[in-house]
Amino acid sequence: MAFAPEKWGSPGPVSSGGETAPVHILVIDASEEDFDLLRGELSMRGIRNQCERVSSPEELSTALERCEWDLVISEHRLPAFDVFKALDIIKRKGRDLPVLIHSSNIDWNLAVSAMYEGVADFVERGNYDRLVLVIERELRGLRARMAVREADARLDHLANFDHLSTLPNRNLFCAKVGGWLEDCDRRSKSRKGTLVTLDVDRFLRVNASFGYDAGNRVLKEIARRLGDVVDAEVMLARINSDVFGAFFPGIGTQEGGAVMARWINTIFDAPFLQDKVEIFLTASMGVALADGGTGTAFDLLTQAETAMALAKKGGGNQFRFFDPTISVTSAERMSLEADLRHAVARQELQLVYQPVVDGGGQLRGVEALLRWNHPRLGTVSPDRFIPLADETGLIVPIGEWVLTEACRQCRVWQDLGFPWIRVAVNVSAIQFGQPRLLQVVGEALGNYGLEGDRLTLEITESSLMRDPEVTAGMLRALKNLGVTISVDDFGTGYSSLSYLRKFPLDIIKIDKSFIRDICKDVESVAIVRAIIALARSMRRETIAEGVESEDQQVALIRESCNGFQGYFFGRPADAAAITERLLTEQQTRAKLSVASAETYVR
Ligand code: C2E
Ligand code: CA
Ligand code: CA
Repeated sequence: MAFAPEKWGSPGPVSSGGETAPVHILVIDASEEDFDLLRGELSMRGIRNQCERVSSPEELSTALERCEWDLVISEHRLPAFDVFKALDIIKRKGRDLPVLIHSSNIDWNLAVSAMYEGVADFVERGNYDRLVLVIERELRGLRARMAVREADARLDHLANFDHLSTLPNRNLFCAKVGGWLEDCDRRSKSRKGTLVTLDVDRFLRVNASFGYDAGNRVLKEIARRLGDVVDAEVMLARINSDVFGAFFPGIGTQEGGAVMARWINTIFDAPFLQDKVEIFLTASMGVALADGGTGTAFDLLTQAETAMALAKKGGGNQFRFFDPTISVTSAERMSLEADLRHAVARQELQLVYQPVVDGGGQLRGVEALLRWNHPRLGTVSPDRFIPLADETGLIVPIGEWVLTEACRQCRVWQDLGFPWIRVAVNVSAIQFGQPRLLQVVGEALGNYGLEGDRLTLEITESSLMRDPEVTAGMLRALKNLGVTISVDDFGTGYSSLSYLRKFPLDIIKIDKSFIRDICKDVESVAIVRAIIALARSMRRETIAEGVESEDQQVALIRESCNGFQGYFFGRPADAAAITERLLTEQQTRAKLSVASAETYVR
């Protein structure tokens, strides 16, 4: 081999005047002498060149791999190698390289079909003057094509990448996620994937306090940290100013999605340094699962953004899953809202009650759950209309009705001979934030002559965390009324556990997502165990919700959980059904105590 060039940039060659970069020419030729002659002739005619000779398909492949070439000059027919084979190898390697035939005894038919296959030109061996002209022409063409390609690539980059973070932008992100979804559909694979969006909380303050450049540095740093914490197959993007996106292929469950959101959030554990000042940031995140859906990547992104907006509205520093009930179309929403306005007056609301039992399966209390018997839609789930009631302020009259009705029913049960029964009522975040709640609770208890401790208010972890100052004040006032306070859906919030100590809470309701997997997932067991241990150390009661099987109950008793609720012990039922159950249990108890008294007498 005559010459082994190093890896070089392309295309180097030919310019008028001054020292030009050499042209890198790959020569396919069987003869070393012919090769030397060619190099000499080209140099003599002013073409600075770096050439290498190959004479087999293997040598050609290796040479193409090793460095970038500007041009190939090929002998027409070698013993085991012809120009067609060479063209094929060059094409398969995806190279855009002019190929010239430089050969004696050219068979014109073959030469024409070679040009048809992509050979740029052919030159009779020895006609070096023409060869030089052809080389110069081809190199000009190559340079022009390169320039167009570079411009295209730049435009493409501008259209698809965010220049600040160098991450893909919204466009490319949707295209990539969309490609992945289509691929799943094509291969009839289930779409197991999770899209998370992240919006930096109060980012404008960073800009306002430290300046725009500092804000940009923080955004770059966020992009860098994101890249560090996720695996290579995770698709990242900067969606817009302070919103980033991540798509996790293969993560298809709520639990998995929650783990990913928490994981991503670790990028905010360390402060962002700005002029030696440590800035601590938090984010609001939205999580949307692709599983089961048929929507586009754009739909999925919109879902995550909808959930993210709710996380932000909820005070930030938390994540939310997309809930299809959030996005009922606006027309449907408006008509639902109009109907909801009349629901109380038209007596369409109803309370059903779900039993809460002790370790022996005896009924200790009930949770009141709201139902809306819509004249046209049938029973509407509270998950669907409570958020609407919250947003429109209708939760105030509805909440009042619920509290009053639950207290009235509790009085009925008291009078039937069940003075120990406790009724739990759910209080939404909006209700909890209104001072009027105190008055309503006080009146409901007073009107029916109930002791405060007969009533339990269930408040979700996230409502408690909204504004710790307000929460502390409200809880103190409720405690003054004697009311029992329960933390609902515990474990799903996004807060530290330390607040449990700060607030006067009585009961912790372990969320049903942990109970569901308690028999099959060691992590759920560990979480439940930790929650119960923590509650006990603070003398709080625990209730497990969503218990659906005996195995789950056994596992929970093993962990010393105090109370149980779930389909296994009873579905939500109307007041009459609960009364019946109370009476039956009373009779059974009476029979048992008679039986045991008789045994004693005998
Ligand atoms: P929540 O407070 O977590 O209520 C428990 C939900 O879990 C109820 O759904 C109940 O039917 C369901 N559930 C009970 N046992 C099981 C079980 O073993 N397995 C499963 N998979 N689910 C079980 P529901 O009645 O649809 O209520 C949904 C949510 O609506 C409640 O969640 C609560 O946050 C809200 N809500 C209900 N009633 C009211 C109300 O009067 N006021 C307010 N503000 N919110 C309410
Ligand atoms: Ca509840
Ligand atoms: Ca709950």
